[in-house]
Amino acid sequence: MNLQLSAEQLLLESSLERVFQEHSSGARIRATEPVGFDRELWDILVDLGIPALRVPEDQGGSGMSLMHALLAAEQAGRALAPVPLVEAVVANRLLALAGGSEAAALLDDCLAGRAIATLALHDAGTRPRQLVPAGAVADAVLCLQGDALSIRRGVARLPMPADGAGQTQHGAIAAQLLDLDASDSRVDLAGTREAFAAALAEWQLLGAAQLALIARRAIDSAAEYACEREAFGRRIGEYQAVSHVLAEAFTRVDGARLLAWRTVDAIARREPEAAALLAMLWWWAAVNAHEATLGALRIFGGYGTALEYDAQLCYRRAGAQLLVGGDPEKQLLLAADLLYGPATGREAPVVALPDAGEVAIDFAWGAEADAAREEARAFLRRHGSEARRRFMRDSLDGFDPGLQQALAAAGLLYPELPREYGGPGRSPRAAAAIRETLAEAGWHMLMPGITDMLWKVIHHAGSDWMKQELLPKIAAGEVYLAMGYTEPTSGSDIFAARTAATRKGDGWLINGQKMFTSSGHRSDYNLMVTRTAPDKHRGITLFLAPVRQAGYSVTEIRTIGDERTNVTFYNDLEVPDRYRIGEVNGGVKVLAAALAIEQSGGDLYVNWLRELGRAALEWAREPGAEGRPIDDPRLRLALAATAARMQVTDVLSRRSLWAFEHGQARKHEGPMVKLMGSESWMNCSQQLLRLAAPDTLLRGYTGAGLIEWSARRSISSTIFAGTSEIQRSIIAEAGLGLPRTRS
Ligand SMILES: Cc1cc2nc3c(=O)[nH]c(=O)nc-3n(C[C@H](O)[C@H](O)[C@H](O)COP(=O)(O)OP(=O)(O)OC[C@H]3O[C@@H](n4cnc5c(N)ncnc54)[C@H](O)[C@@H]3O)c2cc1C
Repeated sequence: MNLQLSAEQLLLESSLERVFQEHSSGARIRATEPVGFDRELWDILVDLGIPALRVPEDQGGSGMSLMHALLAAEQAGRALAPVPLVEAVVANRLLALAGGSEAAALLDDCLAGRAIATLALHDAGTRPRQLVPAGAVADAVLCLQGDALSIRRGVARLPMPADGAGQTQHGAIAAQLLDLDASDSRVDLAGTREAFAAALAEWQLLGAAQLALIARRAIDSAAEYACEREAFGRRIGEYQAVSHVLAEAFTRVDGARLLAWRTVDAIARREPEAAALLAMLWWWAAVNAHEATLGALRIFGGYGTALEYDAQLCYRRAGAQLLVGGDPEKQLLLAADLLYGPATGREAPVVALPDAGEVAIDFAWGAEADAAREEARAFLRRHGSEARRRFMRDSLDGFDPGLQQALAAAGLLYPELPREYGGPGRSPRAAAAIRETLAEAGWHMLMPGITDMLWKVIHHAGSDWMKQELLPKIAAGEVYLAMGYTEPTSGSDIFAARTAATRKGDGWLINGQKMFTSSGHRSDYNLMVTRTAPDKHRGITLFLAPVRQAGYSVTEIRTIGDERTNVTFYNDLEVPDRYRIGEVNGGVKVLAAALAIEQSGGDLYVNWLRELGRAALEWAREPGAEGRPIDDPRLRLALAATAARMQVTDVLSRRSLWAFEHGQARKHEGPMVKLMGSESWMNCSQQLLRLAAPDTLLRGYTGAGLIEWSARRSISSTIFAGTSEIQRSIIAEAGLGLPRTRS
């Protein structure tokens, strides 16, 4: 796995960033309207060889990869550059691949800056008059006519009525209605249909990348404004109605950007799902960039709507890019056709993808993870059964001590636990691959999940004695841990804990009550947040309290999602001082690390979403009274949206894990995974629950039953480990620099 750009890619990115910063100011962009073309900027890009990025070296280009082109599109998007960069890059490559003297001559002109070529998005035979991106400034249009790539120079621009009807109101993409039948010259190159389709796919990919960065610019400038503008005596960024809108948009748009990278990776590897990923990407990027730029515009209040200010530029530019591509939901339907096969009676779509070249990035978990996955599969072959799968779901905590110890012996229970303490010492990527494999069999293993999180807290902040004493026992599956943070009067406000720890001799007495102490009925030690002084933050101390003793009792809580959790009571519970973690009254520091560890693992949401998608598809393919549900376009959209959200969660999760492994973790990235994953799981489940009614009224272990279960179970995932509101606050503060809204 590698998400680090190559030196060459970084150089390209930074050079373009500089050029655009200098030559694409808001005033200059506005001055290019209504056409949306800056000739001076274009000439600079031509001199830098940007339109020749994807043209092979032996034809005068630099032969760079799809990823290089994507990075250039991102920079153009962030700058709202009024130039047809994407269209020209794609059209020039197509000219190079098409061959023939006419194409070569036009390519020469394009690379020398004497001409601009663009692509028509629809077949010229069936739609001779169409809105062509960059049509207002292009000297040549490449279009498909039947089976041939047709090069048309001097295409007639349809005259604009005097009343302005027919002008694009969305600015800066230079789209224009053209009459492709009326041109000065036309050359058709037979047998180039596939090359043309691949070029369209490349246009779509680069356009989606551009959309994500247009939206990112809108979010960043709205965040900056929200840090300065005051209303009612406060900076508006202190209002969650402002900061949470931005946090949500930031998460979705960052997901779009990463999904574009992932699509490049999938195209480079020729993955069977690459075309479906591209269709999902366009839908996700288009819809979310549009909504994000609208949300950002509104944060500027009235100024956001004023044409002489910049705030509206991003909204109109994202809108233009989205609208020229047509209804984004059609792409989601295409994704459904590609993923599930066409609806009954419809033809399978034919797609082609571009050659990606050396892209440098890589989203695969890697060889060690693949080997670990095989070990997990072997374990499942030995120990897996339908009865066990049901037990894992039905027993409310899925706990089987013998099974956990067998998993421990196979190095699959706590995969990352270091070897020096008796663990298998695998990488986080291998651990994710193991969890994914076990989840495929329905083993989500809730209780060890908490221990898996908490041993890392011991390893990070515990004393040497504690590590030597406990980690080997944990590794062997002999002791389990629980988490005692939440109390009857405080959950999100974790530092408001009241459970008291008071000195008794060399040790401590703990008194109080904790809520929702999951696995507290089986745990040996509970990580306790206790109050040791009145100051809210400087009066917190953490203990790993041994609870198999007098002074500890438990009553169960059963949740709507079949979970077993507990109220735990601490009545003069004796805790020797050696079980303290961190300094007395210094618990906030340890807790910050513990919460970061809790928020770093997001792949479980990917696994749940994947399981939901599989179950819904299983149900949808079963013929019912009204035929196969899968033929219903509403259900196809819902299934594909679930698949798309799973992919977005997956890329956010992989990025978070990769950054963590490379010491580049940023505080908002884990919360982004948690927010996207849990909210997607809940919302997709609820939608599928309704679409699959009335079958989803009944409990079951497959198909509709699993949708029903997911709809109930997913609710708590938006609450535990920090509610969605808390995640949005963290993302707003840590990711966008907005003011804190919590104390
Ligand atoms: C199944 C399950 C398992 C759990 N397991 C554990 C466990 O093992 N250990 C443990 O300690 N806890 C556990 N919890 C508790 C969980 O962490 C808390 O429920 C959660 O942190 C929310 O706290 P609360 O329930 O007190 O709600 P509150 O904090 O009272 O929140 C109520 C509502 O107000 C909103 N809200 C609160 N503060 C803000 C704010 N600043 N801005 C905007 N909105 C806000 C919340 O988002 C929520 O919608 C579990 C919960 C569940 C459901």
